[in-house]
Amino acid sequence: MAGTGITLRELDARPVADLNGVGPARQKTLSAVGVASILDLLGFYPRRYLDRSREATVAELAPGVEGMVLVRIDRTSARRTRNGRSLVEVRCSDDTGRLRLTFFNQPWREKQLREGMQAVVFGKADEYRGALQMTSPVVDLVGDRTGRIVAVYPQSETAGLHSWDVDALVGEALRRTMKVRGLSDPVPAEVRERYRLADRSEAYRSIHRPEGMHEMLEARRRLVFDELLRIQVALVRRKVELERTSTGIVHAAAGGDGDPVAAFLDRLPFALTGAQRRVVDEIAADMARPAPMHRLLQGDVGSGKTVVAVAALLTAVRGGHQGALMAPTEVLAEQHHQGVAELLAGMTVDDPATLLGHRPLKVDLLTNRTTAAERRRIAAELVAGGVDVLIGTHALIQEGVEFGSLGAVVIDEQHRFGVEQRAALRDRNRDGTVPDVLVMTATPIPRTAAMTVYGDLDVSILDELPPGRTPIGTTWHVDEDDVWPVVRAEVAEGRQAYVVCPLIDESDALDVRSAEATFAELSDGALAGLRVGLLHGRVGRAEKEETMRLFRSGTLDVLVATTVIEVGVDVPNATVMVVLDAARFGIAQLHQLRGRVGRGAHASRCLLVGEAPTPDAEERLRALVRTTDGFELAEVDLDLRGEGTIMGERQKGRNDLRLASLRRDGEWVEAARTEALAIVGDGTGLADHPELADEVDLFLGADESDYLLKD
Ligand code: ADP
Ligand code: MG
Repeated sequence: MAGTGITLRELDARPVADLNGVGPARQKTLSAVGVASILDLLGFYPRRYLDRSREATVAELAPGVEGMVLVRIDRTSARRTRNGRSLVEVRCSDDTGRLRLTFFNQPWREKQLREGMQAVVFGKADEYRGALQMTSPVVDLVGDRTGRIVAVYPQSETAGLHSWDVDALVGEALRRTMKVRGLSDPVPAEVRERYRLADRSEAYRSIHRPEGMHEMLEARRRLVFDELLRIQVALVRRKVELERTSTGIVHAAAGGDGDPVAAFLDRLPFALTGAQRRVVDEIAADMARPAPMHRLLQGDVGSGKTVVAVAALLTAVRGGHQGALMAPTEVLAEQHHQGVAELLAGMTVDDPATLLGHRPLKVDLLTNRTTAAERRRIAAELVAGGVDVLIGTHALIQEGVEFGSLGAVVIDEQHRFGVEQRAALRDRNRDGTVPDVLVMTATPIPRTAAMTVYGDLDVSILDELPPGRTPIGTTWHVDEDDVWPVVRAEVAEGRQAYVVCPLIDESDALDVRSAEATFAELSDGALAGLRVGLLHGRVGRAEKEETMRLFRSGTLDVLVATTVIEVGVDVPNATVMVVLDAARFGIAQLHQLRGRVGRGAHASRCLLVGEAPTPDAEERLRALVRTTDGFELAEVDLDLRGEGTIMGERQKGRNDLRLASLRRDGEWVEAARTEALAIVGDGTGLADHPELADEVDLFLGADESDYLLKD
């Protein structure tokens, strides 16, 4: 048990300079790759293993097939080709044959690959003048390591750090760590037994020096579990803490006569989908609990989140509280206001202070554009409880906006809001009660990923679209000329179209220029004679509004735009979405853009235009053509881009998921979540697990764990 072995905290306190042969120069090299302590070093895992007992020999390489061989460098020479390119040729061999490597435009290879070195070479072999060769293979220098399994470490050419240097240091660190005390193990024994996890000391040894590949996999399993457990413990601890320290509002379950929730659902011109019904119930049950709700609603574009959101807001209104809906942009806030006001038109709320005992339900809009006078009126009515539902942008959480009793907050498109803004919203009530919070996102991510990225939230999923939707047919056209006839034909039928312009880069200014150029070109060319409008981030407010109004009313046929239309814009008569240079957009973004059409009775199309410059880009476009299922697309995205897609940038430091992959290790995420809930949620928190608590702090200290709550 804890107490005898060395803790990771202790290893963290020991600098690598404690190891033999690590002087100031080497220390600097190591710190360039993020290794400062012994803990960092032990967590600097091999990126590849070479199993000598199974490696291919040169004789076994076949032309046209990828292969990996361990070879000795025999001779290296450099020259220039006739057209001036640098060419390094390397002759190498093993006991079974010879292999030639060629590298174009990598002159440094001449110095890197010296006679007598051993290297692992990975690439596709081909035959050149009767001899085997590989062009620009992946090369790992491994020194003259013996042993059956050779660990290949990330190396840094620029810093002069080689795999064998790391290997030697890791060897010493392991020897010194294991010799005296071994590592202490903070994971409860019964948890280790349940999942048949290797002992921690053993795991660290075997990930670096496995006797066989099976042993390495066992080690990996254990270390993956540890990484995920730490994250889940941090998240669950945060969630439990939040619930413990805040007083929520117990919203009454379904009311009797005049229950606004029931009245609202009754009035809808359609029946809820099964998923909507389930989620509405989940939210109602959550809101009836004394702890504040903190829930994520994931639902694909068009899955009907608005109705669910309004039901949540009305659940608050039912008990005499207020509801707020916050959107990321003014356009969206205004659109929501319009839509929600329509949905709630003619409804009343109980008000004993009035003659009739009830008054009209009041929905207001607050954005940065709200006039000062209107703002004063709203502020006064908010405090007095005269406004039932307030819709707006960030303006909702500005200083001076105070509610009489804010009961529920819905945040639309969560990815545009940061943690602090969420926190600010929870801080609106004078009496210190915390409103229930529902965060909505139309960017689905796989369940296990959600457990991590939104680990402090409960998750509800709308996984069913309302019936009767005609699926959006998506096609990919390399040639732009193919798509304009489609646009013209739809317009001739009375429909409308969006054209999204190439995304230049992060620069707003360039995007604007590209949109303007595309607009000019199309208006005079392929779309001449149609009524074309332009919308981008730099268009003035009044003009933007006017353009949207003209498009909504059908006075414009085509809207040329940047991604400003990505989120939420709702014009049912628009049936064509053209995305130029589509390969530049990510899967989620394309899926969002596509969601702007297919909102009415008419069949819609999405036309993705342009070449795919990389295999990944091609796969993205093919995925969009293949499916309109946002969750399936999210899986593809996670596959192609890895964790970075959803975890954001900040986790690149030491707190990275180093071995664990949210995708491949999905079942371990679930296991870690279950165990974290059992360990933290048992009422005593982490009091019984001081060493685990300390380790979580070490890796995910209070200020560090914010990154988990992605913004
Ligand atoms: P989301 O915000 O999830 O993208 P919305 O809430 O905007 O989706 O709903 C999309 C459209 O579907 C709206 O026009 C809405 O009125 C309609 N809708 C929502 N729920 C249903 C349902 N159960 N049956 C039919 N239509 C629905
Ligand atoms: Mg919506």
